[in-house]
Amino acid sequence: MLSIQRNVPLDDLNTLGFSANAEYFVQITDIAQLPLLCEYCQEQKLELLLLGGGSNLVLGDRIGGMVALIDLKGWSSESLKDGRVLLRIAAGENWHTAVDRMLDEGLFGLENLALIPGTVGAAPVQNIGAYGVELKDHLHEVEVYDRAQKCFTRLSRSACHFAYRDSVFKSLEPDRYIITAVTFILQRDFNPVLGYSGLSELAGRPYLTARDVFEQVCSIRRSKLPDPKLLGNAGSFFKNPVIPPEQLLQLKQRFPDLVSYPDQGRCKLAAGWMIDRCGWKGRREGQVGVYEHQALVLFNAGGGTRTELERLMANIQLSVQQTFGVWLEPEPRFYPAIKN
Ligand code: FAD
Ligand code: NAP
Repeated sequence: MLSIQRNVPLDDLNTLGFSANAEYFVQITDIAQLPLLCEYCQEQKLELLLLGGGSNLVLGDRIGGMVALIDLKGWSSESLKDGRVLLRIAAGENWHTAVDRMLDEGLFGLENLALIPGTVGAAPVQNIGAYGVELKDHLHEVEVYDRAQKCFTRLSRSACHFAYRDSVFKSLEPDRYIITAVTFILQRDFNPVLGYSGLSELAGRPYLTARDVFEQVCSIRRSKLPDPKLLGNAGSFFKNPVIPPEQLLQLKQRFPDLVSYPDQGRCKLAAGWMIDRCGWKGRREGQVGVYEHQALVLFNAGGGTRTELERLMANIQLSVQQTFGVWLEPEPRFYPAIKN
């Protein structure tokens, strides 16, 4: 039931487009394969890397151990008495296609998350978010294979410990769970979230639909972000740092135009603005660089290496730290992990 291959290139399976080779590789199309896979990895002492669309990770040139491409498919729904709908989607389905189909079926809530690359199964890992909506806002539960307990189980929203671009799957217990399906709780009534610039202009429309918001999000994203098929990237490379209000006041004295937003009693700084202010926007170092229209995006122009990208990342972190006294944490996960 497990068809394991050796020395498989991952160049087309990561959106940064880095050249990488998996020592072992397997495609998971049936959840029954998961206990076998975990047993095999344990016996052979192989590390396991779960791969979805490869849009939020930075690969080294050799990935020792097993890479498992999660390719589980499926979609089902159940209407609740209060009019809401539970929608269960298997982990290997494409995220954007799923959001598109939700709208076709009259299920609303996730339209602001259109055009985010990757799979449904990876979406809870960093609690994907955009334009004022986060995955957790409409998540009911996550189905997983628990590698520690060796069993299939379900995690409620609270058990997922969702936070800003974070969850139990990313930080607390990063290698414990294999996500097999996600169940969302969605509405038949459309309640638009239009707080972000680019969407707020839709507020005046007399007959606004969720499809309008979806199209607008797609249109803004196409104009601002590089298409990974044309320019290798992993989306926002750094998280927006969140600092105490007192620190913001001090920073505002030195940088009155610093872009920040309130965040649950604290202050979220726009990392892209700080990187731009440090002069990095549009700069290129070898085959990697900082995207000219969005300083939060680092790119591989083709033939770039992880070493080059790590150097660029470190230089940006240092420069922002020296200018603003704030450390930028990378958003994607590194495989193998960065050596300190
Ligand atoms: P991968 O990159 O394959 O994996 C990401 C992590 O999840 C890895 O640690 C992997 O091991 C783990 N993982 C994957 N599948 C599973 C599974 N089934 N079970 C357990 N762990 C798993 N992110 C946002 O939040 N908002 C955005 O607006 C956004 N825009 C982006 C735009 C661009 C152009 C790009 C390139 C990226 C963007 N991202 C954004 C980041 C990325 O698309 C998301 O984080 C996405 O959810 C990653 O999905 P993936 O399938 O590609 O995951
Ligand atoms: P933007 O609209 O230019 O805004 C810059 C930053 O300011 C964003 O990071 C956003 O924080 C914050 N922001 C803007 N308006 C805000 C508001 N009304 N309230 C609170 N925070 C606000 O950003 P962009 O680069 O074009 O991206 C638009 C959206 O897509 C953002 O939500 C961004 O997170 C998301 N996106 C994410 C990725 C990724 O890889 N993670 C890639 C591309 C786009 P937040 O990031 O917290 O929203």
